[in-house]
Amino acid sequence: MSLLRTEGIRLSFGGLLALDDVDVAIEAGEIVGLLGPNGAGKSTLFNVLSGLLRPDAGRVHLGDQELTRALPYERALAGMGRTFQHIKLFPSMTVEENLLTAQHRHLDSSALAAMLRLPSWKRDEEEARDRVEAVLELIDLERYRRHRPGELSYGTLRFVELAVALSLQPRILLLDEPASGIAQREAEALGPLLREVRDVLGCAIFLIEHDMPLLLSVSERVYALDFGRIIAAGTPDEVTADDRVLSSYLGRTRRDAVAAG
Ligand code: ADP
Ligand code: MG
Repeated sequence: MSLLRTEGIRLSFGGLLALDDVDVAIEAGEIVGLLGPNGAGKSTLFNVLSGLLRPDAGRVHLGDQELTRALPYERALAGMGRTFQHIKLFPSMTVEENLLTAQHRHLDSSALAAMLRLPSWKRDEEEARDRVEAVLELIDLERYRRHRPGELSYGTLRFVELAVALSLQPRILLLDEPASGIAQREAEALGPLLREVRDVLGCAIFLIEHDMPLLLSVSERVYALDFGRIIAAGTPDEVTADDRVLSSYLGRTRRDAVAAG
């Protein structure tokens, strides 16, 4: 059974059909890319997966749980991690404190479940600190642990945000354009880093990325979306050679060129 599965996801914004019968399946530990021109519905699909948008039809499953109607925090507890376009960090806290706080908020939302299991809070605290250490090392952020967000570059903050998501131990991580707005040097480091994250932590990654060389080099499998429909799926080579995928980009480019006058 796949780790993450959707069946027949459909979502309209008024008269616009943004997602039309979308089926995707991602295996545990797999890195899968989602490509498609601007407005294809990529971010909308991620918002449906993470629970920010409720689909008009269809289902979302993670492992043996159906999450279609679950709230975002319930999905996070079930193992769905994501980063956001707008970074949400506490400005008065250090990087290290931000990572620890994220885990406490995560634990607090499961307070009832935690109480029923009668955990040792001290042990939880130690585990949280160990996880923060492991993630700071993996993402190579140790030298920034005592810095506050205001002292860091935008690119470094994106890596801190990734670290926050990973410290919550996701089974799958949804990344919507992680390379946008970061320096070329950092973007080049991102591909190998995502592979390492998967290899060390074992989490699957579902990736939207405008930087096509990055997306194609890191993904083991790719879905192509156009006008809310999956038009191709396969290896990066298969999908980039697909006529429908090529024409979806060419068609959009021509229309954009016309729109731009
Ligand atoms: P992508 O991420 O592939 O560029 P989006 O998922 O952001 O595309 O958008 C898909 C389509 O849905 C676009 O036509 C976009 O304008 C529209 N859309 C996205 N979010 C909303 C919203 N909240 N309300 C209305 N239309 C939206
Ligand atoms: Mg988008």
